[in-house]
Amino acid sequence: MLNFAVGPVMSSEEVRAIGAEQVPYFRTAEFSAVMLENEKLVLKFAKAPEGSRVVFLTGSGTSAMEASVMHTLTPEDKALVVNGGSFGHRFVQMLELHEIPHTEIKMPMGKGLTAEMLAPYENQGYTAFLVNIDETSTGVLYDIDLIGDFCRRNNIYLIVDAISAFFTDPLDMTARGIDLMLTGSQKALACPPGVALIVLAPRALERVEKGKTKCMYLDLKDALKNGERGQTPFTPAVGTLRQINARLRQIDRAGGVDAEIARIAGLAAYFRAQIKDLPFELVSESPTNAVTPLHPTTAKAYDIFTILKDEYGIWICPNGGEMRDTVFRVGHIGDLHESDYDTLIAAFKDLQKRGII
Ligand SMILES: *Cc1c(COP(=O)(O)O)cnc(C)c1O
Repeated sequence: MLNFAVGPVMSSEEVRAIGAEQVPYFRTAEFSAVMLENEKLVLKFAKAPEGSRVVFLTGSGTSAMEASVMHTLTPEDKALVVNGGSFGHRFVQMLELHEIPHTEIKMPMGKGLTAEMLAPYENQGYTAFLVNIDETSTGVLYDIDLIGDFCRRNNIYLIVDAISAFFTDPLDMTARGIDLMLTGSQKALACPPGVALIVLAPRALERVEKGKTKCMYLDLKDALKNGERGQTPFTPAVGTLRQINARLRQIDRAGGVDAEIARIAGLAAYFRAQIKDLPFELVSESPTNAVTPLHPTTAKAYDIFTILKDEYGIWICPNGGEMRDTVFRVGHIGDLHESDYDTLIAAFKDLQKRGII
């Protein structure tokens, strides 16, 4: 299998080998040491400010989105939320469900955020800002410098969903004033799904401390308290957390977060340079390194996905909903190499020769 999906993605040999091992009992000093090292490395890679903490939830990325909304926002907040696709829409649904007053910045498909778009919200009493910094459904990377400056000027608490952007595009929590950043195990962390991570800077920790929302499983106060000794309130995805540890160490050995971002950016550029002669149009005008969404002009996107999967053993990433037939995505995250893109391009050329695209 050759997988260009945007999660789950291809895992390295080392990470997969851990998946084949027996899963150990976890209320031990050994597992606590793994967890404390995971926290330390994530804080370093996120460039988190002094006093920040990391919570590891057993759940998909959405559990981290919802825990962040529930436990760090209140009905006294006035939130701004960027909605440029499926994941932005998910934040909007959560704000509605948890009754947090909010205004939606509805984005045209494929477009980046500009200073003009933010201008009307300047000095309007907003207290929180939520953004999926890479809207993975359309591959749009929003401008974190612009958003960070806007939030700082207006003293706004900033939540960044970096589920697909952590390790693919630069995100410096300290320099950009990001208060809360969240991600998941199955995107650029390239591990199996099942663990969601929340990095909380001091302002986010303060909000958790003051929070009154009741919830047992996703209680961040409890998670933070247990995390002090490298533990979790309930049985976590022990195996996946051990795989995350191996992967974080791998990234550290290979030069850290900046080296990993450069590697992924290189793969994205390598692929994009070779699609010029294919009947595909780029969807994103503000592209992330994580993924390249493409609009095929001569065939249905979902048909291309199906044929590549069934006849070539290659998985690209289909889109859902309204974009099912018009957009497919090629990911650049996971254990992928230039030779893998050569294989994919050869398959596209073959489809072209066969008159399918
Ligand atoms: C993948 C993704 C999610 C959530 O994913 P889960 O399916 O819950 O793991 C949320 N936001 C973004 C930007 C994503 O890419």
